[in-house]
Amino acid sequence: MPLPADLPIVDHHCHLSPHAGGVRAAARFRSAGGTHLFLTTQNYAADLPLELESYRRQFEVTEALAARIRGETGVVAYCVVAPYPIDLLGAADRLGIPTAVALHRAALELAGRWVRDRRAVAIGEVGRPHFEVSDPAVHRASEELFDLALSVAKDSDCPAIVHCEDLNEEEIVRLDRRARASGLPPRRLVKHYARARFPAGWPEHLTPSYLARRDMVLEVLEDPGPWFLETDFLDDPNRPGAVLDIATIPRRAMWIAGAHPEKLERLRIPFERAIREVYGWSPEPEERSVA
Ligand SMILES: [Zn+2]
Repeated sequence: MPLPADLPIVDHHCHLSPHAGGVRAAARFRSAGGTHLFLTTQNYAADLPLELESYRRQFEVTEALAARIRGETGVVAYCVVAPYPIDLLGAADRLGIPTAVALHRAALELAGRWVRDRRAVAIGEVGRPHFEVSDPAVHRASEELFDLALSVAKDSDCPAIVHCEDLNEEEIVRLDRRARASGLPPRRLVKHYARARFPAGWPEHLTPSYLARRDMVLEVLEDPGPWFLETDFLDDPNRPGAVLDIATIPRRAMWIAGAHPEKLERLRIPFERAIREVYGWSPEPEERSVA
């Protein structure tokens, strides 16, 4: 069965670099059938950002790349910006904790401003390291910035795309409460790189963005949502296969269309409905004339 012409094919979390695959990788996504990317910022420079200006430049690189992708491939690329939570560790080392925290606060505020100015659609990745942080003071600082990120998302009326460890049910409940305490609807707290199915049937809780492994997709296709699919593609030639390839999600959609045509319409959950329910708007049609 062919894919419905009006079905967007969306990768909800990837990184592309102008120094690596960049626009070419997006063109590959496009040729495989992809239409929309949520392009999350990353450190493009070799050095860790140690001043606000470096984060501003980093966000600008993401924005310029998104514009090029759109112009040259027709893929709609939405920017997601924030200081990467793990940057805090290196910054604390180099600058001391108070200065590093001040830098991350300012960068989170900047990310919020970008959303309010409609230069980005969400703040991310925010959260905390996915591993144990040995220094308790750094750990506390990181949790404090996590809370700030949630309130920046609330004030900017957007989702927070969260980087953290794999969550069990208890931790999902805890984060759910934390979002509420910050005034952010829990649904707008999106756990990126989700590798296990979230408990279903809760009226209102965090939204998983599932890593689009084949068995994962088939499993969660039964769930009412909202949930997303992502590759977390890294665009790093030195780490091939670290995450899923950029063409994975369109390939999964084609596979569902061929092997499970009765489930094809369920792909509207991650590709349309989740965007409406979590972001509050509908994905705009891509420019089919380009490419
Ligand atoms: Zn990522």
